[in-house]
Amino acid sequence: MNQHKFDQKDLRICVAIRKRPLNKREITKKDNDVITIPNKDHCLVHVPKSKVDLTKFLDNQTFKFDYTFDERASNDLVYRYTAASLIDTIFNGGNATVFAYGQTGSGKTFTMGGDVSSAKIDYSHGIYAQTARDIFHRFSLPQYRSSVEIFVTFYEIYCGKVFDLLNNKKRLRVLEDQKGLVQVCDRKEQQVKSVQDVLNIIQHGMSIRTSGTTAANSNSSRSHAVLQIILKTSTPISIHSNISSLSSSSRNNNHNNPAVPRRIVKEIGKMSLIDLAGSERGKDTASGDRLQRMEGSEINKSLLALKECIRALGRGDGTHVPFRGSTLTKVLRDSFIGDKSKVCMIAMVSPTHSDVENTMNTLRYADRVK
Ligand code: ADP
Ligand code: MG
Repeated sequence: MNQHKFDQKDLRICVAIRKRPLNKREITKKDNDVITIPNKDHCLVHVPKSKVDLTKFLDNQTFKFDYTFDERASNDLVYRYTAASLIDTIFNGGNATVFAYGQTGSGKTFTMGGDVSSAKIDYSHGIYAQTARDIFHRFSLPQYRSSVEIFVTFYEIYCGKVFDLLNNKKRLRVLEDQKGLVQVCDRKEQQVKSVQDVLNIIQHGMSIRTSGTTAANSNSSRSHAVLQIILKTSTPISIHSNISSLSSSSRNNNHNNPAVPRRIVKEIGKMSLIDLAGSERGKDTASGDRLQRMEGSEINKSLLALKECIRALGRGDGTHVPFRGSTLTKVLRDSFIGDKSKVCMIAMVSPTHSDVENTMNTLRYADRVK
């Protein structure tokens, strides 16, 4: 796909669309492909005239985004145009966030995690693994090697509650202080020394995310999974420092041991990679059981709040970010403020005629994020 070569844009908010290929079942059922990606930034939907006659279409609907990827695009290509450009951001002291948005089955987990649904599980090409690889590559440079430490957190948000994927799905409390600082309390933060360490965390977290429900994967499609890779720097404090003046993000590791020099640990930047809950609406909220209705309305609420927060970031209006609208936006608050924050949304679409309603909703949502 040479068309994509060498034209990465430096964007504060980047919105990309990715169309997945038809799967075997859809081909067998002769479900029509109604999505065309004519070039690198347009997406065309052939809007069907009727659900009965699949051969008749109304006018095409065209959408324009920063990047569009068709069914031939590899995870590697998608990564290079989305998350890869955010590595600089976090090493330069900013927060970067990548969202995978779309209906269940559109390819969010494939894009973020890699190939996890087939027998030959392969995390290596997903955005999680590629981001980790690039971060460790940068980390190996002399100016970072001695001063930077890398930590990972992995948790999921289900029905507005936070569960730690690094600690047996322990329920975590979200607290906000008077200054509006939001903290996910007691979440496990694991230091990582290699790409393999990150892959092990992903593998374990993804396995506990999808198990534990009766219907396979049903829980995972209804929760947001948040993987954060956090860069920290640790510097010794002189004995005469005024400890009480340290900021709340600072930590004194060794206060019980006077023999070890005291250190101050500060966050440099953070990459949040988020596999969002399925964006499909309809049946859950209208007719499902009570739990399904609650799940559906929580998801709607959080995706709506998310859109508003990204729009606020785009306006550069750091003081009026409506992050209180959902747990998702609360825990991501510090990624929506600060003039160095950047966001990338990859909206996944299914190619089929039978999914066209959800696809249109996804394209409209992605269109309004900017
Ligand atoms: P979601 O997480 O959005 O529910 P998945 O990532 O689980 O969707 O994708 C659904 C199925 O489609 C999986 O079997 C996945 O491997 C496959 N798939 C998704 N996107 C692609 C792609 N770009 N290329 C090949 N297979 C894909
Ligand atoms: Mg998924």
